[in-house]
Amino acid sequence: MIFIDSHAHILRSLYSKDLEREIEIIERENFFKINDVGFDIESSKEALEIAERSVNFFATVGIHPEELVHFKEGDINLIEELGRKNKVIAIGETGLDYYNNDVALELQRDIFSRQIEIAKSLNIPVIIHSREAFDDTMCIIKEIGYNNAVFHSFDYRLMEVKSVLDFDCSVSFSGMLTFKKRGDLREVAEYIPLENVLFETDSPYLSPEPLRGRKNRPQNVKYIYEFFARLRGIDIEVLCERVLQNFKGRFKKAYIEEEQCSK
Ligand SMILES: [Zn+2]
Repeated sequence: MIFIDSHAHILRSLYSKDLEREIEIIERENFFKINDVGFDIESSKEALEIAERSVNFFATVGIHPEELVHFKEGDINLIEELGRKNKVIAIGETGLDYYNNDVALELQRDIFSRQIEIAKSLNIPVIIHSREAFDDTMCIIKEIGYNNAVFHSFDYRLMEVKSVLDFDCSVSFSGMLTFKKRGDLREVAEYIPLENVLFETDSPYLSPEPLRGRKNRPQNVKYIYEFFARLRGIDIEVLCERVLQNFKGRFKKAYIEEEQCSK
């Protein structure tokens, strides 16, 4: 069985001396594929560097809405340049965060739009961070007409997921799905068609139950798979295979080489 962590931040700034050990364990166990996600220029470069030397890692490059306080005009070109690298499979995380964020809404919307345009021109998905900004998020992706998108660490309810599914985007569940008080997310998980599902740890944040409060790591994605499988009454192996196909279908660039080899 292969478990996919569709969104984690395995970076030196967040793991310091433990980083190399974490990467080594993933490489040795060989059960996990990780999409290592940047949130600014430095972390995006680092995610790429790790993906280039580790077979089980891919990279996603982009600027998070909360990181826009440091935004410089040249950053957009740098993201586009990084986006062309072989092991970069998506643009993100980018999006809108209207919760407790000092960055002007106008700037958030502008840089989100420009990163979607980059994803569109490179024909790779965009990984969306959206918090308390659902209507504007949908409005922007619909205006650009780009639905090759993943809503990461999905944090909306049934009503919202229906619009996401109508536009045929993927929904990635984090450890929040396992939190006692998140019955609203479990309602979404019970409703969603399996073809639209991905899972993620968002490491080092959001450790799932029963590890809540500890530093998260990609292997813990297993707990989210198991939780979802129980909730839906499906076999874990069937779920793993389904999610692997979902990941391959969405992140096509991750599997281009594999396809070329089998031809
Ligand atoms: Zn994240």
